[in-house]
Amino acid sequence: MPDSDTAAPRVRFAPSPTGYLHIGGLRTALYNFLFARRHGGVFILRIEDTDRSRFVDDAEADILSALDWSGLAFDEGPGKPGRVGPYRQSERRALYAEHAEQLVRDGAAYLAFDTPGELDLMRDRLATEANPNPRYDATTRLAMRNSLSLGDEASARLVNDGVPYVVRLRVDPGSDVRFTDSVRGEVTFSTDAVDDQVLVKSDGMPTYHLANVVDDHLMGITHVIRGEEWLPSTPKHMLLYRAFGWEAPAMAHLPLILSPAGGKLSKRNADTLGIPVFTSAYREEGYESSALLNYLAFLGWNPGDDREVYTLEELVQVFSIERVGSAGVHFDVAKLQWFNLQHLRSVDPTEIAARSRPALEAAGITFDASYTARVVALLSERLAFPQDLATTWRWFFDDPVSYEEQGVRKRWKEDSAGLVRTLADRMPSDEGFDHDGLESVLRDLAEERGIGAGRIIHPVRLAVSGVTTGPGLFELLVVLGRDTCVRRLVRAAECLG
Ligand code: GLU
Repeated sequence: MPDSDTAAPRVRFAPSPTGYLHIGGLRTALYNFLFARRHGGVFILRIEDTDRSRFVDDAEADILSALDWSGLAFDEGPGKPGRVGPYRQSERRALYAEHAEQLVRDGAAYLAFDTPGELDLMRDRLATEANPNPRYDATTRLAMRNSLSLGDEASARLVNDGVPYVVRLRVDPGSDVRFTDSVRGEVTFSTDAVDDQVLVKSDGMPTYHLANVVDDHLMGITHVIRGEEWLPSTPKHMLLYRAFGWEAPAMAHLPLILSPAGGKLSKRNADTLGIPVFTSAYREEGYESSALLNYLAFLGWNPGDDREVYTLEELVQVFSIERVGSAGVHFDVAKLQWFNLQHLRSVDPTEIAARSRPALEAAGITFDASYTARVVALLSERLAFPQDLATTWRWFFDDPVSYEEQGVRKRWKEDSAGLVRTLADRMPSDEGFDHDGLESVLRDLAEERGIGAGRIIHPVRLAVSGVTTGPGLFELLVVLGRDTCVRRLVRAAECLG
């Protein structure tokens, strides 16, 4: 996809409302959005809801709210009319019927009356060792019941009699179709490998292929950017463009998202690994939408240097479809959490504190906005989610009830209880209770006893937090406050002896 394309690109995200928005779908939406914004183009949302059997009532609402939450604003789509609407395929049925009729009139498509039973019989009857799965195509179609084998008159009679039929594309064998995929390069396929696909089903509904091609053309789509799972459909789409005499849009098929355990990241294998697949689940788990988008941007693309943390606006500046790779990419929750931590750092501590409130209260902690905001500020390099305050960082709110065993073994020596107790006695009064005041008290004590400061620092950390890791000791003592520190030091000295 050359950057030099003169006309502003028009791209679309075209989900089917057969389920809630999957993170793979969100990535497709993101890449379309970035491409459109990067090139001053238009980003369209089209709802592909022609498959009524798999329709899920609230799926469209979920897709809209997920896009809204993540900030991927579309320029045209349901509820945002543009020149080429409507944007729900169920509201465009007449267009598909007209276009299918046009193909039939031109001889590029035909009516087929075969019942499902007849199709099975055909497969049994024509199967040979060389061709175990005969398809409905140039080699079999004249042995079937359709307007080509029966003739126009007989077929018109059947239509009049109300016999159900489908419309099939007439695929002529013996030619090659080529297209360039921006991610995969040159793709060539032989029409011998494509069957006479159904364009209109017997209930009058278009298939995905017909509706997708007609809409991409009528909506002026210049670039189709979608998941690799649609690559096998592309030959069929190319044949449809050819049959209509239309120029096909440029194509880019995004690499598969793989499960950490291998294989495609399906809902089922994600569930077994405890990985959420729906965008709404990430929202509920407290992810920053900007972090999720940043992570998804890197799931198949990279900017070509070491920088990883980008806002959505920054991604727009650097995104290019040429840097999308074709190899499948493994989903990595730990990396996503790392992105979340990076993005959370730019959120105001007061806001993060407010977001943590439900989790803190659910854990039985009385919410104190200003104290919590100070804890958040102190944890800016460590807090991955607001609600982690109620778990990993709970000791900021409640005295530790136990002490990390391994830490005790390693850091709590015979003299620790005495040192910790002495420090408790010498804790500076309120005015001197700051970083420097605390540090000098501790260092003086170490000097007096002729020991290294570490000999006091580690047991003190263990005493006030119960664990061996966390932010800088003096800063954290200041946040905990004098009374809490004294109480915890005395208690640890008692418990650990
Ligand atoms: N409706 C298809 C989907 O659910 C769209 C595929 C395409 O973008 O062409 O992903």
